[in-house]
Amino acid sequence: MDPEWGGPLKKRRHAAPGFSKAPPGVYNAPMKTHTFHMPTRIIFGNGEASRLAAHCAILGRRPLVVTGRRSARATGLLDRVLAQFPEAAVFEAVEENPGTAVCEDGARLCREAGCDFVLALGGGSPMDAAKVMAVLARNDVSCGELFGSDKYRNTPLPIAAVPTTAGTGSEVTPYSVLVDPVSGMKKTVKGTGLFPVVAVLDPEVTVPMPPAITVATGLDALSQAMEGFVSNASTPAGDALALEACRLVRRCLPVAAREPDNLDARGGMLQAAMLSGVVIAHSGTTVIHGMGYYYTLRFGLAHGLANGLLFPAVFAFNARHLPAKVAALADALGLKPASDAGPEALARRIHGGLTDFLREVGVSPAAADHGVDASMLAGFAEELAQDPYRFRNQPGTLDAPRLLALFQASHRGAFPELSP
Ligand code: NAP
Repeated sequence: MDPEWGGPLKKRRHAAPGFSKAPPGVYNAPMKTHTFHMPTRIIFGNGEASRLAAHCAILGRRPLVVTGRRSARATGLLDRVLAQFPEAAVFEAVEENPGTAVCEDGARLCREAGCDFVLALGGGSPMDAAKVMAVLARNDVSCGELFGSDKYRNTPLPIAAVPTTAGTGSEVTPYSVLVDPVSGMKKTVKGTGLFPVVAVLDPEVTVPMPPAITVATGLDALSQAMEGFVSNASTPAGDALALEACRLVRRCLPVAAREPDNLDARGGMLQAAMLSGVVIAHSGTTVIHGMGYYYTLRFGLAHGLANGLLFPAVFAFNARHLPAKVAALADALGLKPASDAGPEALARRIHGGLTDFLREVGVSPAAADHGVDASMLAGFAEELAQDPYRFRNQPGTLDAPRLLALFQASHRGAFPELSP
């Protein structure tokens, strides 16, 4: 029998040329022990949101439908969904960047109405709030006690998710990101029970997104894929998905922003967002997310836009630490080859390519043009440098002066000049 197909393995004396070891610098460190777990059933297709009752039949008949304050009602999606679930209770009050209070309100309604599952319709904000409502419906704790990993005892109610933005990938992650009223910062609730059981990806429901929301959320998908790819916790399976997510965003986001009705571009972006979610479900995000929260919470920038304004500078930094990986990202993004082979040329290649991409989708790469106040950046850098959690996945070492240099480069949309 051919040994490649299950026959007796013979010890090879010599590895095949070029395959004896991984190319230097591809993985951040020797590959760590890890689990790759993706329990969500993903259904993709135009019009699939009109078949939700069938897709969710295994979960029950009486959902708590959780959505944002306006768009699902305004676009007619909520009515189409409620027509399929006559016994549903509805919670349509989730704000952008939700806090803990809204989750407790929704969980109360969920218990009172005797719902048997939670159905999230919306962007990352309603999906994240819905996940924690599902936890609180089965656990008699306050929302603040859930920050961290697996801080609940009883299995949450099952969750189904229909993303109406193409960005966060929350429909396939075990996370809920909420604003902690105590610190005023974003914190994560994490647990296997937060993975939606069913995710329905229907490109048609993302068509009503205006260009600014399309672009901001699409940049989040790109940031997550790139961050997950260079994360210290990256995995080979996640890396393969991350590169495909980057290719899809490169190809589809400019089209979706220009032609809102283009269902191929909308579908490509939903796939990219979902893939980026699977990536960060395993690798987590890097310092970009920690930095971006300041832009969002202090200046009101959309979550994905905040990340997009930071990724050129941070990836110029990453290029000096993980050149092989950053070069692979540059290739996936179709960037012009560098004139020179060194890390400095690569840093300029990735920075220039990402800032050009921002301009192509109508975004000025200078955070100053989006209302970010330069006088506050030093304070952000000092505070962030004190929080080791934000650096757990970040390659290289970033102290307060370097973080400030990256914030300042993002503020000007300029290349970060960092001392070695
Ligand atoms: P979002 O905050 O859910 O929504 C942004 C805006 O888009 C809202 O005004 C919303 O209106 C509107 N909108 C949503 N779908 C629309 C549609 N189809 N047509 C027209 N308008 C639409 O934005 P997001 O970027 O998707 O989510 C960001 C949140 O997700 C942040 O809190 C972030 O921290 C979190 N996040 C979570 C994860 C995770 O794994 N759990 C990952 C990344 C980010 P309505 O409010 O009226 O619906």
